[in-house]
Amino acid sequence: MKKILLVEDNEMNRDMLSRRLIRKGYEVVMAINGMQAVEMTSSESPDIILMDINLPDIDGWEATRRIRQHESSHSIPIIAVTAHAMQADQQHAFDVGCNDYEPKPINLSKLLEKIEALIKMQ
Ligand SMILES: [Mg+2]
Repeated sequence: MKKILLVEDNEMNRDMLSRRLIRKGYEVVMAINGMQAVEMTSSESPDIILMDINLPDIDGWEATRRIRQHESSHSIPIIAVTAHAMQADQQHAFDVGCNDYEPKPINLSKLLEKIEALIKMQ
């Protein structure tokens, strides 16, 4: 079973998305802020990370940068998830080391396609 680290500070979004991902056959572990995302990337070794960008402590960009600094998590796929669906954000996502980008509100079937494509490349 593939493991997803879902990083999301909003409880309602987290519950809804995690339930849908579990129903699709994924194991889901959750982080509610950026520091926890960095820590859980080391402790949980997820197959892929869904990274919310607006977070209460360090934002998703900074968390991604820190995750990329570690040898062990250098190549874990990361999908940035943000409400700021602007071209600049999309470019920024790739600049800091994200592999893909999903604007909110999330389109689940599109997100699943992106998850499956990135996991397959591992
Ligand atoms: Mg958020």
